[in-house]
Amino acid sequence: MESREDKYEEILAVAKKNKATLIAVSKTKPNEAILELYNRGQRFFGENKVQELCEKQESLPKDILWHIIGHLQKNKVKYIAPFVSLIHAVDSIELLKVIQKEAAKNERIIPVLLQIYIASEETKFGLSSEEVIALMDEVTVNPLPNVAIVGLMGMATFTTDMNQVSTEFASLKQIFSTIKEKYFDSNSLANHGYEFKEISMGMSGDYPVALAEGSTMIRIGSALFGAR
Ligand SMILES: *Cc1c(COP(=O)(O)O)cnc(C)c1O
Repeated sequence: MESREDKYEEILAVAKKNKATLIAVSKTKPNEAILELYNRGQRFFGENKVQELCEKQESLPKDILWHIIGHLQKNKVKYIAPFVSLIHAVDSIELLKVIQKEAAKNERIIPVLLQIYIASEETKFGLSSEEVIALMDEVTVNPLPNVAIVGLMGMATFTTDMNQVSTEFASLKQIFSTIKEKYFDSNSLANHGYEFKEISMGMSGDYPVALAEGSTMIRIGSALFGAR
């Protein structure tokens, strides 16, 4: 049987080959499991619950780059603002404004991704392609001095139909290209020296498809740590 270590090396190699970053999604997993990968060189870890993230951040090595990957409530931003390395799922202008406020309080710039709704399931969060344009128009008029928008994030429908998944990821890539061209290539949107370049898509069940469609960040939990 393939060991857990082999699985890590295998997925890391696939990510590297595609010039993508591997985010190890450690939600519900104990510190020992995180340290095991940390000791192999992994530094990017993703969590989806603020309290769990804060507890782990406090007790684990300080050079871990923590990503919050799931839906984020406005009233919880203050707890992660001092240290979070990337917020993956910004899905409203209101949330963006709260992140701005808390980043300013901490005298730092927080990088974020805008979550786009690409699935056919109503349970998933995210902005439509019209809403993301409206949000970008708004931040162009009223720039956010402490937030850098570095890319987009999306989750495909939970299905075994990889054609559908592939189509959904391709639509995210398309929206990414539109936003990049409209607001970052030809426009002088202040982004504090950060490039708009990330497409966070792909999980344990669909990362090869996501990488084929241009993912730059894969968020992998169960394939690395075992079932939750
Ligand atoms: C849990 C989670 C993942 C990882 O899921 P796996 O299927 O275990 O790889 C990725 N992204 C988000 C937003 C998650 O909540």
